[in-house]
Amino acid sequence: MTASTLAVPAPKIGFVSLGCPKALTDSELILTQLRAEGYDTSKTFAGADLVIVNTCGFIDDAVRESLDTIGEALAENGKVIVTGCLGAKAGEGGGNLVRQMHPSVLAVTGPHATHEVMDAVHTHVPKPHDPFVDLVPAQGVKLTPRHYAYLKISEGCNHRCSFCIIPSMRGDLVSRPIGDVLGEADRLFESGVKELLVISQDTSAYGVDVKYRMGFWDGKPVKTRMLDLCEKLGELAAKHGAWVRLHYVYPYPHVDAVLPLMASGLILPYLDVPFQHSHPDVLKRMKRPANGEKNLDRLQQWREICPELVVRSTFIAGFPGETEAEFEHLLSFVREAQIDRAGAFAYSPVEGATANDLDGALPAAVREERRARFMAVAEEVSTEKLRRRIGATMQVLVDSAPALGRKGGVGRSYADAPEIDGSVKLLPPEKASKTLKVGEFTKARIVGAQGHDLIAQPI
Ligand code: SF4
Repeated sequence: MTASTLAVPAPKIGFVSLGCPKALTDSELILTQLRAEGYDTSKTFAGADLVIVNTCGFIDDAVRESLDTIGEALAENGKVIVTGCLGAKAGEGGGNLVRQMHPSVLAVTGPHATHEVMDAVHTHVPKPHDPFVDLVPAQGVKLTPRHYAYLKISEGCNHRCSFCIIPSMRGDLVSRPIGDVLGEADRLFESGVKELLVISQDTSAYGVDVKYRMGFWDGKPVKTRMLDLCEKLGELAAKHGAWVRLHYVYPYPHVDAVLPLMASGLILPYLDVPFQHSHPDVLKRMKRPANGEKNLDRLQQWREICPELVVRSTFIAGFPGETEAEFEHLLSFVREAQIDRAGAFAYSPVEGATANDLDGALPAAVREERRARFMAVAEEVSTEKLRRRIGATMQVLVDSAPALGRKGGVGRSYADAPEIDGSVKLLPPEKASKTLKVGEFTKARIVGAQGHDLIAQPI
């Protein structure tokens, strides 16, 4: 290191990350690369040499939020690069929406474009001289708390659900090489991550695009396939005493083979299955993957293999043409399927989605009323299932623990994914010698249930 390199402060990049966990992992890749090249980050727009805004373009509110943020960054800084889903969205007349709304942005890219973003950064704020790459932690820069992390296994989607524009923004499925995915997982566990959340647009489709190509990990051949990925992730997690949680899994028959891994404790017995509806006609109109599957039978089979299984799902109420009978079918499904954690959206037309052309659009008031009715039933099911846990002992991962962990804290059991599910409120430990530590597991006896949460006594 020379005196001159020390004297020159590193250029500062402001960064705003909007959108879903998939966008978050894109942000992490860009931030990791920036840090690797010696750039610094700035907490304010005004204090930065340039600002990157990673946008979301999924629903109208998200589009507005992204455009407003770009506007603020331009007003306060002036040098702005836009990336993410909104960057791939067309505006009126087919031009780029972001460029139409904010012509002075320096560059616009779509999602999953670390190299293009870095090229634009280099053009406008040259790389600092002599970067100290060893300042980058081996696991990269994480935006989540240190003890959990998202692991993106693929990008894009081969489906064409009629309400969704993600494939037009992100393209068809591209699976990451299995060796890369497992290498990243290993580094994350080595860095202290205790919970790995596997994400994609369709986790069950992993490897379809590369015909389940044989890859390599740790010197051994491994197929690019969901089951093999889960086995290897489970083995890595077991070595580090950590959890692996699966998101965005569709109810295909081949998923059955993953359930024994859950029953044996290698993978958390938790599945995030975005059913969106239950009625076969609505599913067909939605063009949902696996719409011909008998979902109730499949769930029952899964629970026979793994009785501890917790199922989270999202649903759409008031899809175009949804009859009262179809909606009632959905309510019965949630009851019969005993969905542990359900979220619902009132259908909202997304610009560019083919569902907008379907007959039978329902008034907003009906869509909202159905959403509210759905949530009332879903909450009944969930509350009853939570109540059944009272008296049980569960493993809880501590997310926060003020007062050095002596006054209780908040954590999650295997049944709660961060951000989207409930939590476990931990009472102060009874034993004076016991403290709760963020990012560590504690055993706790469930003593109560409250809304979506459990209350537990650490033991
Ligand atoms: S599965 Fe359907 S909803 Fe999900 S990303 Fe693909 S097209 Fe969109």
